[in-house]
Amino acid sequence: MSYDTNNIFARILRSEIPCKKAYEDDHVLAFHDIHPQAPTHILVIPKGAYVSAADFGAHASDAEIAAFTRAVSRIAAEAGVEGSGYRLISNHGPDSHQEVPHYHVHILGGRPLGRLVTPP
Ligand code: 5GP
Repeated sequence: MSYDTNNIFARILRSEIPCKKAYEDDHVLAFHDIHPQAPTHILVIPKGAYVSAADFGAHASDAEIAAFTRAVSRIAAEAGVEGSGYRLISNHGPDSHQEVPHYHVHILGGRPLGRLVTPP
């Protein structure tokens, strides 16, 4: 799947639409989800153009991957959910219901989150 430069997160990265920023560095931007599913619901995205976890894992540089992984942990700690617990979710492809085709990790926390997957 080729990268769509007009996806909503690409537009947020270009500051064409606003976001409630939680964190930013050279490689990473994080912002609060517009439809939060938990008291803490932050989306962490790389600044590079990657469609999903599969694309990021295969093609991102070691520096991008290291920065992203460290940022996720730091953002969760700064959001105050490290002690109570949090869940990381990254959807890839149709079965996962990925809506936005720019790689992102959801950080969810601030309440008991239940089991990982809803039974069919
Ligand atoms: P996905 O289903 O692709 O893993 O998750 C996409 C997430 O992006 C959803 O949780 C959705 O609420 C969020 N989202 C979609 N559009 C926007 C937006 O314009 N701003 C923000 N902050 N979040 C968005």
